[in-house]
Amino acid sequence: MTDLTRLSAAVLAEKLRAGEVTSVEVTQACLDRIAAVEPAVHAYLHVSADEALATARDVDARRAAGEELHPLAGVPIAVKDVVVTRGMPSTAGSKILEGWVPPYDATLVERIRAAGMPILGKTNMDEFAMGSSTEHSAYGNTHNPWDLERIPGGSGGGSAAAVAAFTAPLAIGTDTGGSIRQPGAVTGTVGVKPTYGGVSRYGLIALASSLDQAGPVTRTVLDSALLHELIGGHDPRDSTSIPEPLPDLVGAARRGAQGDLSGVTVGVVTQLQGEGYQPGVQARFEESLELLTKAGAKVVEVSCPHFEYALAAYYLILPAEASSNLAKFDGMRFGLRVEPEDGPVTAERVMAATRGAGFGDEVKRRIILGTYALSAGYYDAYYGSAQKVRTLIQQDFDAAFEQADVLVSPTSPTTAFKLGEKLDDPLAMYLNDVATIPANLAGIPGISVPNGLSVPPEGGDALPTGFQVLAPAKADDRLYRVGAALEAALESRWGGPLLDRAPDLG
Ligand code: GLN
Repeated sequence: MTDLTRLSAAVLAEKLRAGEVTSVEVTQACLDRIAAVEPAVHAYLHVSADEALATARDVDARRAAGEELHPLAGVPIAVKDVVVTRGMPSTAGSKILEGWVPPYDATLVERIRAAGMPILGKTNMDEFAMGSSTEHSAYGNTHNPWDLERIPGGSGGGSAAAVAAFTAPLAIGTDTGGSIRQPGAVTGTVGVKPTYGGVSRYGLIALASSLDQAGPVTRTVLDSALLHELIGGHDPRDSTSIPEPLPDLVGAARRGAQGDLSGVTVGVVTQLQGEGYQPGVQARFEESLELLTKAGAKVVEVSCPHFEYALAAYYLILPAEASSNLAKFDGMRFGLRVEPEDGPVTAERVMAATRGAGFGDEVKRRIILGTYALSAGYYDAYYGSAQKVRTLIQQDFDAAFEQADVLVSPTSPTTAFKLGEKLDDPLAMYLNDVATIPANLAGIPGISVPNGLSVPPEGGDALPTGFQVLAPAKADDRLYRVGAALEAALESRWGGPLLDRAPDLG
């Protein structure tokens, strides 16, 4: 019998529609796989088995009654814990939200529920989505299914590991500086950061509101397009939501899979390669460029001179926005409340005690940095300059997209590193996102497609690498066309999907 956990969402959807399998069977297969591999992987903070099966039963009954259902009806999904889910814990990986059960759903969760997709559970993440390894979670590490001693990327390491370990065919991530794409790259999964405003932010626990964007984490490019079309599109409850309809993403993915990229110009960004990128990562990147050329694309080199300052600008803008967004966690309204051990119980002392106990070190570091960058006398020098750099980066992109339809780079400069390796060195951790951050600063969409394996410099088993494609704002369809063409070329070269080569943890 086919192992249902190995099938893509598109194939599962087809089998469900044709009545070859039921949603209860598919959901149960995922839950059994969770029971088998979660002790080793720890991708989930909460598994909602009963609720998922109840949704599955309901969808099966509606299908049996001949009801017209959404194409993804009955396909299970995992959701990053920074997205609020009614009746289901939502901690954002923080002790300060331990035990908080939201009274409402994020818009994207509402859409998932309305489509009849069973929610398997909530996935692990760096606290408040700050990090690149998921080691800043207050609830323990997630392990990379390719090598359990390595990080699954971050902040959405749980969603990527869940999909890579075949415990969920689909997952939701959020990407403020790379938290969908970088975990995708290091776990051999596909991750998409949509155009800013392309997916509603209503019900995301905000990190940096001008950068945050939710998106799909999947095993195939087509699956990302299917999920993106479900969760994307205008939402009146998010004032930054784009009013126009999404481009035809599924159509673009299907067209790309046919393998013809003639007429497409691909721009290689000079600043996003070379020094700091592992030679193996660079080699896989160049092979992928050759495959795109063979598919008919024209490859040119483009320069984005201000990208050099992207990381510095990001680490002023993000902490500034985060320090303001996190001010609401004060021990007064929801989540943890700690009263001072002695002395008077004043509001200020309760806030200090609660925040001192509830936030982890990385979160405190960024609150302090952000508050400093915004303080009187420093505002222009730090936050103001960072905003100017942000404009220059947007202008670099505008100029580059005059020369190319899409821009490409390795997604992450390295393959997955060892747990603990960069934990004491925040700067080394921040450098994981050099290639992903510019897209967030400019609000443009990006995808990471698994593009091969590379042996890390210290030796050992080969690990996944990712290929990043960036497109102009609102042209997310280009990601899917180029991404699907690359995926098809790579699969015919390897004789199957990359993830088939991952160790079987079951
Ligand atoms: N790693 C980046 C950071 O720590 C990105 C985070 C994200 O995209 N949520 O800020």
